[in-house]
Amino acid sequence: MGSRLDLRLMPSLTEITHLIIDMDGVLYHGDRAMPMLSEFFSFLRERPIPFILATNNSTRTPQEYADKLVRMGVQVSPDEILVSGQATARFLAREYPHGTRVHVFGMPALKQAMMDEGFVLADKDVQLVVASMDREVTYEKLKRATLLIRGGARFIATNLDPTNPSEEGLIPGTGAMIVALQTASGVKPMSIGKPEPTMYELAMEQMGARPTTTAAIGDRVDTDILGGKKAGLITICVLSGSSDRTEAEAIETDMIFDDIAHLLETWKRL
Ligand SMILES: [Mg+2]
Repeated sequence: MGSRLDLRLMPSLTEITHLIIDMDGVLYHGDRAMPMLSEFFSFLRERPIPFILATNNSTRTPQEYADKLVRMGVQVSPDEILVSGQATARFLAREYPHGTRVHVFGMPALKQAMMDEGFVLADKDVQLVVASMDREVTYEKLKRATLLIRGGARFIATNLDPTNPSEEGLIPGTGAMIVALQTASGVKPMSIGKPEPTMYELAMEQMGARPTTTAAIGDRVDTDILGGKKAGLITICVLSGSSDRTEAEAIETDMIFDDIAHLLETWKRL
């Protein structure tokens, strides 16, 4: 019993059969690829260790993320990328019939994700308000979404990240928009993105993976690592993005590496 507990507390890289990997702060910073990025993916393909790249940032489509990675020398299929907007659409499609009317407060990528799952976009008589980051936010948009939520539409958020990293520093993220809608409507939304386990669960289902042999790799303890723990996964924090070693240790992350190059070098030696 004791040894079993010890094993769970100290998982090894050799136990990992599947990966769910965050992108920003792990694979790149903005448009700058992390060292050994293409070598890391070559290693995963060779083993092979199937993976899904999962991000809370719903402002791009999976194809746009795949194109971004191609520019960094990495070939990844859009099917290997899960964006919170898609995860939200996929999750809601299980609960609501085809043709359900939804109001989307967010970017074109999110609208597309909802339509792809059979939802009909509308500005009135909707059952759902799905909200995310909108870089063209206006008072009119906030007003419309608020009135619909106040009128009884269910309020769903793709994620609650307060900020997004950018070359200029931390800029307002989805959470900043959600707080405005929450304050005005008096309703707290259900959120799909990390740290809720939903995205990890959808990614595992897609890969046919089990939580005990699947690892979540991320740079943020309050989203990636916390979500991984909620979903029962092995957690790996890289210190190349948001969180530092103290934060990673405080949340009892299973494994901590400086960056993916350090992770790769360690894994190759096993
Ligand atoms: Mg990140």
